Amino acid sequence: MNYYSTQRQTPAVDLKEAVLKGLPSDNGLFMPEKIEPLPADFFDTIIDKSFHEIAFALADRLTGRTLPPSKLEHIIEQTLMFEAPLVELEENMNILELFHGPTLAFKDFGARFMAQLMSYFVEGKSKKLQILVATSGDTGGAVAHGFLDVPNIQVTVLYPKGKVSFLQEKQFTTLGKNITALEIDGTFDDCQALVKKAFLDAELTEKLFLTSANSINISRLIPQTFYYVNAYKQLKDKSKDTVFVVPSGNFGNITAGVLAKKMGLPVKFIAATNRNKIVPDYLATGQYQPLPSVQTISNAMDVGNPSNFARLYEIYDKDVDKMRADIKGFFYDDEQTKSAITEVRKRYNYTIDPHGAVGYLAFKDYIKNCTKPINGIILETAHPAKFLNTVEEVIGEKIKIPTALQQYAEREKLSIPMSIDFEPFKAFLIEQYA
Ligand SMILES: *Cc1c(COP(=O)(O)O)cnc(C)c1O
Repeated sequence: MNYYSTQRQTPAVDLKEAVLKGLPSDNGLFMPEKIEPLPADFFDTIIDKSFHEIAFALADRLTGRTLPPSKLEHIIEQTLMFEAPLVELEENMNILELFHGPTLAFKDFGARFMAQLMSYFVEGKSKKLQILVATSGDTGGAVAHGFLDVPNIQVTVLYPKGKVSFLQEKQFTTLGKNITALEIDGTFDDCQALVKKAFLDAELTEKLFLTSANSINISRLIPQTFYYVNAYKQLKDKSKDTVFVVPSGNFGNITAGVLAKKMGLPVKFIAATNRNKIVPDYLATGQYQPLPSVQTISNAMDVGNPSNFARLYEIYDKDVDKMRADIKGFFYDDEQTKSAITEVRKRYNYTIDPHGAVGYLAFKDYIKNCTKPINGIILETAHPAKFLNTVEEVIGEKIKIPTALQQYAEREKLSIPMSIDFEPFKAFLIEQYA
């Protein structure tokens, strides 16, 4: 099976090229040419299937059955080293906890799978694969952990000095091994500019096998389908309609859910956003109008031009009515989000993070128009401790920092300071890796 570009200005490529390249050169996004549904009886016997078995069935189809089964099994094993449990807040309202990975957010699923797949594709090559990634905080951690100890790959993370939180910084500057962190005396945009320049530099691209760990890499969406189907499995009463509530920024997570639906998962979706409400507006008006992003307390969703919208648009044949039939949009401001954190804490004795809180609000509004009870599954995309200051201030209590996060605080920072000039950066890469 091949992967085509949503812009259709470049030829379709195989999985290896789609994964190693990340982005087609026409600036579209890679999409599988065919989405093969699961067998009709798959959902009848789902209760007997393990998370790994479900993942294998989905990944095998989304990779066009091009990987040897034993390899794919290994990749899934290395990806799913943690659970995605469904927690019931009350009847018909569940939280899908996606924060049990090493960096406490759902992005761990995508980053780990992508790392394993890339490693497989570069096996036996003479040059190691060099991943360059600029981060404003969270991506660096998820990518660094995803690639940690993965053979045939080196990762260089560029981050702006003094502009990421203490714990975020510690998550990707203390790992050593195949992960190097460069502390750039500039802004996130400066970091990104350095990475972009490296990809355009003829000498570097000749001497090094460079790629990016782009957030829109198709391989990151594949493992995100796993937990939708596995969450459905965990529902007690499958005779009711089911809706997934997805706190959304770049709309990759919800796109993965929609792919699972295309493969047979009988559910619908709610796209919940903060004031960056481009997609809820599109669903309301039929006009897609990107805007500069505005800052909120659910900052992983502060996106003014969601990159995966192009994929959703493809899946729904560029037809807003088709998208509306599957996805409802809701949006909330920071004050509403804070009240929701308080309400969930008081009512359910559950600490929800600001992104999940936006999802909770959307679900409550959605069911106002439902005539019968439905299963609601709210994706809790990150652990509340990742947004410690906001959450502690709102609930007026200290929250426990999971050991997975706390352990980094005490470790030694190993980053290398660097200016925003390209030449020393280039010289460093050549000296280290060529
Ligand atoms: C990345 C992220 C989101 C947004 O996910 P998209 O796939 O970009 O829509 C939501 N919540 C958290 C905590 C995130 O890190």
